[in-house]
Amino acid sequence: MQQPKIVFLGTGGDSIVVGKQIRGSGGIIVQVDDSQFHIDPGPGALVKAAEYGVNLRNNIAVLCSHNHHLHCNDINAVIDAMSVGGLDVRGVFVGNNAVVNGTEKETPYLTNFHRQCVERVISIEAGQKVGINNVEIKATPTKHTDEQCIGFRILTPSFILGYTSDTGYSKDLVEAFKGVDLLILNVKHPIDTKDEFNLCTHDAARIVDEVKPKLVIITHYGIKMVESDVLSQTRFIQKETQIQTIAAKDGMVINPVSYAVNLRQKTLNLFN
Ligand SMILES: [Zn+2]
Repeated sequence: MQQPKIVFLGTGGDSIVVGKQIRGSGGIIVQVDDSQFHIDPGPGALVKAAEYGVNLRNNIAVLCSHNHHLHCNDINAVIDAMSVGGLDVRGVFVGNNAVVNGTEKETPYLTNFHRQCVERVISIEAGQKVGINNVEIKATPTKHTDEQCIGFRILTPSFILGYTSDTGYSKDLVEAFKGVDLLILNVKHPIDTKDEFNLCTHDAARIVDEVKPKLVIITHYGIKMVESDVLSQTRFIQKETQIQTIAAKDGMVINPVSYAVNLRQKTLNLFN
């Protein structure tokens, strides 16, 4: 059985960074035992998967936190790749209500055709759980402009992973992630940026300090975060909390059990 792995297919977190592909936006891949999960496939998910050697045919589930395009734009393309255009109906789509059912203002991102390409489509809200193979996925609360946005607490046989998705600070969120081994936070802004609905470095440090995971990874950077030097922001969180903190890079691969990190890149990439 292969070692568990988390692969970052992108770390971009706003329309400028993603629009120019200063950082990619293909989502996060989690491989555990023989199961592969694809979280929040944004624009370019297929391109980044190919670039970093991830076979989307191995996906058994696509998890989508909310209906902002950086998180859901490529859900249909990824489902199409994993099911060969519906010839091999397989896997599960787990999304928040807005992505699956739409809202008063927005149609659902998930097309009718691609609903038929997976075995199950599940819409969940904060506090609800889904079991897929030997992994339990629980939706966590957020404070975001898609009010139904969820994060994920992923309980596997060898580790517990938390993914905040897009959110501002909230006490409920802190409670939902207590006990995770590894916490991935979407930190859009550098320190002391006021945004009720997205994290800055300072808010992230507060969450990390209260949750106390074993390892922290930050990702989903907005343009100010990229320009302000992500590494210095990471050091701030580590200094404030005394918890090891890593800045994700496009193509970064981490073993969530040993915490060994390496960069998987097709060629020498001077932009990382
Ligand atoms: Zn969002």
